[in-house]
Amino acid sequence: MDAAPRWGVMQTLQGIPVSSGIAIGKALVIDNEGFVFPRHFVLREAIEAELSRFDVAIAAASEEVEANRDSVTTQLGEAVGTIFDAHLQMLRDPGLRQGVESLIRDRNYSAEYAVNSTLGAFAKRLRESPNPVLAERAHDLVDLERCLLRHLTGQPQEELANLTSEIVLVAHNLTPGETARLNSEFVRGFVTEIGGAGGHTAIVAKGMEIPAIVGVGRFLAKVSTGDLVIADGHSGCVILQPDEETVARYHLEAERQRSLAEKLQLLRDVPAETKDGVRIQLMANIEFPLEAPACLERGADGIGLYRTEFLYLGSDAEPSEEDHFQAYAEVVRAVEGRPVVIRTLDLGADKVGFVAVDMEPERNPVLGLRSIRLSLRNPSLFMPQLRAVLRASVLGDVRLMFPLITTLTELRQAKEILAEAMNELDGRGVAFRRDMLVGMMVESPAAAMMIDCFIQEVDFISIGTNDLIQYTLAVDRSNASVANLYQAADPAVLRMIVASLEAARQAGVKASLCGQMSSEAVYTMLLLGMGLRELSVPPSTIPEIKRVCRSVTMTQCETVASHVMLLDNALDIEAFLREEFQKLGL
Ligand code: PEP
Ligand code: MG
Repeated sequence: MDAAPRWGVMQTLQGIPVSSGIAIGKALVIDNEGFVFPRHFVLREAIEAELSRFDVAIAAASEEVEANRDSVTTQLGEAVGTIFDAHLQMLRDPGLRQGVESLIRDRNYSAEYAVNSTLGAFAKRLRESPNPVLAERAHDLVDLERCLLRHLTGQPQEELANLTSEIVLVAHNLTPGETARLNSEFVRGFVTEIGGAGGHTAIVAKGMEIPAIVGVGRFLAKVSTGDLVIADGHSGCVILQPDEETVARYHLEAERQRSLAEKLQLLRDVPAETKDGVRIQLMANIEFPLEAPACLERGADGIGLYRTEFLYLGSDAEPSEEDHFQAYAEVVRAVEGRPVVIRTLDLGADKVGFVAVDMEPERNPVLGLRSIRLSLRNPSLFMPQLRAVLRASVLGDVRLMFPLITTLTELRQAKEILAEAMNELDGRGVAFRRDMLVGMMVESPAAAMMIDCFIQEVDFISIGTNDLIQYTLAVDRSNASVANLYQAADPAVLRMIVASLEAARQAGVKASLCGQMSSEAVYTMLLLGMGLRELSVPPSTIPEIKRVCRSVTMTQCETVASHVMLLDNALDIEAFLREEFQKLGL
């Protein structure tokens, strides 16, 4: 990490662009524990004031710990209360004072940054200790750090919840739930140190149309709250403290993008049809019922993927059958008779929400008890959702889809539980559509390999490339360190898509593709050429994809796809597709 202060010096960083648009504004910096860091460095003249702030925080933290000790001693006895004496000792440790003071004096660190660095280093040393008792003490240091930071900077994320002016959020990480709770009126964009293109944080940002860049690597120390920042969600470029000329250039570019978006919006009422008359169904992916009206504004043919697990993210109570039903009814009514594909819960991995079932921390959650596995294991979680979907089925064209199906046994179990839900509703005398279409996502290599069997037992499939890429290439979709290996254009992935489409075509079953790949204009010709006639994309990208559909012929797309299938690596395929896309001159 670069420790030197860099006031006023423009710096350009590169991250992974995950949601397009340009954000220009003052930074609000949040560290990995959710604390807002006003600044990382202070001017030389402010050093004494910074040391006094630290002393005041130590005194306040000590008072807090003493008060805790006294109340715990009264309630639970002296033996438990003495745990807090150890905390007090740590707060009063001359080593802590010396460490923080030298960072403030010698390196101009702010008190927050000095506390964070010093206690972080102490905790790391303890954690690495071979003595398990000492290693355990690292947790105490984390608690102390949080306590001191609270006294220095206020409650974690307090400022984020009470924003009154526009900012560009700069953070170590944002979970999908935190992203979903951002107030898009004030958060003009965000930049994070970690994260990958396929993660759900990226997907939510795109859904909320917030420009976003993830996986920039460590850079929080280079930016302070209040610094001007530009985030270019198209190129992944992040500019800290841009000069006037750069700001003017980006304002122009933002204006150009706005007028292009207005022009594309004119396509709203024309169909997504190729030049030789092949109609493509352009459906929308949503996470929240609130997004449904925007899908129609953008000209969607329906909802191709409703990620219902977002009902759970950030909620502190498990949604009831009625909560599910109300959410589905809102979406179905909003799309005025168009199809709505409701996907059952896909919780787990990076999507963590409140569920009243035991979920042990997992070493490898992407391969763990997630998605359909969690639902099958917990009928008390699954049944209310299935009943709610069935109840909503009488309100419009509702279709049900199971996520992450890997084996036929799972699909059959899911359908059995659905039949039970139907029986229960019959028993209650509640109306539903018994002939509601039931489909599955193809997002595991096992599902793609066994697709000829699966296809006999479903009404439709939807290819989830976000997970299919992850599981086929063994690359974590949210990990910036391996983001370069996460390649939609890898021939192994493309072969799985082709095999799934071919099996669906032979069986006369409808197939769609709802992973992020379908929203990247550079892949549209390839996907149509492979045989897809339905794509489901984030609403904001519908106009752009529609424009590509209307600029090509199916023969052209088939030629592109045939050539791609002869190539043996993602780099060549990407380069070829970019060239072909450029030739369209859009
Ligand atoms: C996918 O995996 O491609 C998909 C659409 O599902 P999600 O992104 O919600 O995992
Ligand atoms: Mg998935």
